Amino acid sequence: HADAAVVLEIDRARKKFGGLVAVNDMSFSVEAGQIVGLIGPNGAGKSTMFNLVTGVLPLTSGAIRFRAQQELQQISGLPSRRIVARGIARTFQHVRLMSSMSVLENVAIGAHLRGSHNDVSGIAASLLRLNRAEEKALLFEARKQLERVGLGHLLYEEAGSLALGQQRILEIARALCCDPTLLLLDEPAAGLRYQEKQALAVLLRKLKAEGMSILLVEHDMDFVMNLTDHLVVMEFGSKIAEGLPAAIQQDLAVLEAYLGG
Ligand code: ADP
Ligand code: MG
Repeated sequence: HADAAVVLEIDRARKKFGGLVAVNDMSFSVEAGQIVGLIGPNGAGKSTMFNLVTGVLPLTSGAIRFRAQQELQQISGLPSRRIVARGIARTFQHVRLMSSMSVLENVAIGAHLRGSHNDVSGIAASLLRLNRAEEKALLFEARKQLERVGLGHLLYEEAGSLALGQQRILEIARALCCDPTLLLLDEPAAGLRYQEKQALAVLLRKLKAEGMSILLVEHDMDFVMNLTDHLVVMEFGSKIAEGLPAAIQQDLAVLEAYLGG
């Protein structure tokens, strides 16, 4: 079956904010073990697309389906925490860290809070509700994921003292704690130095080799071209192109020549 490998199916997803159509009947898929890039100018609707997939925002119309075990099942309409439980985890465009807490604590707490609370009172309440065994299990999982991403030597460092590239990787470790099969990464390479981008690319290839499916938003074209299996291009909420990275790169170069010339 041609669809057998599809893990995420976006089917005419539409999102309106008042009069603004931020996502305009978008359709595309992510296949198992693929790294798919979602690119386009600022304001194109990429982060909104992520918010729709993760249930942070409700769709205006359309559907989003995700493979759980054998079949694609509709996830649009489910609360975020249930979407996370099915196997979709994300990182955000801007780093979200408790900078004076340790790397390990950041991953453990972030994993615990995922899909439930975001406010500080919620964090305190959640921590108080944890018993000793739960706390131990959480720290064990956090350590395991930090080792998996190569930050095992920084467990007790203050998160705020890490380089930006390490902070982004910390956030990936936090996302991995929910045992996802699909990772959504919103501009993971933004602001990183060349070496940091290289390290990030190595990590993402490793996760892919382990069977992870990844959908990422990224502006750095070299990074995207070297990493992705498939590209989706958005502009003004709509999909304007889709295909193999090399073919898309050629199309964009032609388009730029027309627009620029
Ligand atoms: P991108 O991530 O591609 O830069 P966004 O998805 O953040 O784009 O934004 C797409 C459009 O939707 C922009 O015009 C933005 O201002 C608007 N937008 C995003 N989120 C909201 C919101 N919560 N309420 C109103 N407008 C929004
Ligand atoms: Mg964005």
